[in-house]
Amino acid sequence: MEDLLEEAAADGAVLVEPRFGGEAVLRPGFMALFREAERRVHARYPALRAEAVVSLLSWQPPQRLACVFNACLRAAREGLAGIDWLYEPYDTEAEWKTMYRMAEQAANAGLGITAHAGEFTPANIAAALRVPGLTRLGHAVYAARDPRLLEGLAASGVTVECSLSCNVVLGAVPSYEAHPIRRFVEYGIPVVLASDNPVQICTTIGREYALAHALGCSSNELLGFTANAVRAAFAPAARRAALLTELRQWEASARTGGESG
Ligand SMILES: [Zn+2]
Repeated sequence: MEDLLEEAAADGAVLVEPRFGGEAVLRPGFMALFREAERRVHARYPALRAEAVVSLLSWQPPQRLACVFNACLRAAREGLAGIDWLYEPYDTEAEWKTMYRMAEQAANAGLGITAHAGEFTPANIAAALRVPGLTRLGHAVYAARDPRLLEGLAASGVTVECSLSCNVVLGAVPSYEAHPIRRFVEYGIPVVLASDNPVQICTTIGREYALAHALGCSSNELLGFTANAVRAAFAPAARRAALLTELRQWEASARTGGESG
């Protein structure tokens, strides 16, 4: 876990939200271990903060899912930041009833909520937007093919986590140029950049920013993505405020220094 944070920090990341599986959150002292790893990396990279997010797999046996979910609720009291819903079927409409009920509990426990949707088909985007407490959506590339979904997404205020490399590598879009990131921006949808599964996809967050730049996103827009990421982060409000202040200071010094990052 320390390696993962270190790699992102070395790439210039100021906030990392690694995803963990059920195994991790069920381990005694999980949040203490996570904060210790964050503390060690923070000592070498003072700009870095990290928040833990647990991926919940809805297709697990109900008992196992309940067990992991309850561990998330307990960990929320120790600073677990959020949950990410993954479910089956993914490419056709799934049954969301249980996820809605759990999300309501999670939101009440102070956990941030995101869900994967619309990666390979438009299915589940509308249903995901109805998840109680949901503020972010992973991928959502297929929303760009349907103006109604785009408008719904824009009206919801939900932030889209764009994983450019992952979407090309796994075939969600045929090419980088075909990625709808710019369309999301045009619709006023808050966009952030994510590395998804950096080891498997062979990318880093720095590379994702370079790709977005190559797709025509200006330095100002990239800075805007970072500001969106901080605003939509599952970090406590005080931490988000501190990060935004640092970002503005960095922006000001980059401007006076004549550098554009
Ligand atoms: Zn993903």
